[in-house]
Amino acid sequence: MTDWLKDLTCKHVTELTPYESARRLFSAADSSGDVQQTWMNANESPFSQEYSINSEFYNRYPDCQPDEVLDAYSTYAEVDKAQSIVTRGADEGIELVVRAFCEAQSDSVLICPPTYGMYAISAQTFNVGVQKAPLKEDFSLDMDLIASHVGKVKVVFLCSPNNPTGTRIEQAQIEQVLDMYDKQAIVVLDEAYIEFQDNDSEQKRQSELLAKYDNLLILRTLSKAFALAGLRCGFALSSPAIIKTLLKVIAPYPLAAPVAQIATQALSSEGLSKMQAQVALLNADLDKMKSQLALIGDITIVGNTFGNFVLFRTQYKQELMDYLVNNAMLIRDQSKQLMLENCLRISIGDEQQNTQLLDLIAKFYINRNK
Ligand SMILES: *Cc1c(COP(=O)(O)O)cnc(C)c1O
Repeated sequence: MTDWLKDLTCKHVTELTPYESARRLFSAADSSGDVQQTWMNANESPFSQEYSINSEFYNRYPDCQPDEVLDAYSTYAEVDKAQSIVTRGADEGIELVVRAFCEAQSDSVLICPPTYGMYAISAQTFNVGVQKAPLKEDFSLDMDLIASHVGKVKVVFLCSPNNPTGTRIEQAQIEQVLDMYDKQAIVVLDEAYIEFQDNDSEQKRQSELLAKYDNLLILRTLSKAFALAGLRCGFALSSPAIIKTLLKVIAPYPLAAPVAQIATQALSSEGLSKMQAQVALLNADLDKMKSQLALIGDITIVGNTFGNFVLFRTQYKQELMDYLVNNAMLIRDQSKQLMLENCLRISIGDEQQNTQLLDLIAKFYINRNK
């Protein structure tokens, strides 16, 4: 970089390493020639749907918070409309919380690694500090460590089911953290994978929590169970006061008009049943993947599987990863995360992709033993 540009760039930006999204690591442009890559690295859904869009009003700016989308989602989540905000993916929700509640250069957020990478990156992007309360060996929250940060952080990020460990946080522990940080910090509960659990009871649990705690903010997305990662649409559910605060810092037109149209269709009763049917399929396939993987080579399953992904450990992690990449099969390396040395993560694909992946992995170990 030329010197003058370096001098102009904010110091914390110069020091930033951008999020290594699955798509940045391996993009469609990388696939050489006619080899079709199989993507099982970004916890995306293997299913795609068709949606219709109506371009009649594309000459107009869209609503900041399209009514039909908010109505549909708050009905689905069983919360009040005043308790919800729609965002450009859950990632934007993370960013809004950091921007609304953390002063640059002085405030900090708390994360519980190993966990989703964007909490730390969002904070760093706005020159906000990142403190850590690592999970315990069984990937449960370390309550003493979390308590030791009260008064020192403005936002606490919890993720349940957690990416990439697939573990969930017990309701009692979530409530303990909310109590601990009462009037002290916003507690963000990232539920990107909530639909892969027993849906009805989970939804009810969340609206009860929201009624009880006014420092809770729940993150949701259409990217995972709803099979719309390309749409960039997510939601935050919280107290009306927190929602109002976030609306101050959100962009004037966060959702493009076609996004709102497609989200509304995905949240219709037809869209919801389709989503639930696909989740049931993926859950069944995940169980199969998990039990079959455990039979291969030195593979051990790590964590739990409450999402649409399986995390596993093998001492041949690098060789296996290279072998799969060479065979145009992409899964995700998680070994750089705290406590996840030698761990790889598989996102559940369709039946054919799952079988293809399992066959390749089995072949890798057979060749190794020759
Ligand atoms: C995928 C994911 C997100 C991001 O969701 P988008 O709506 O696509 O931005 C947020 N949190 C977790 C834990 C995720 O795995």
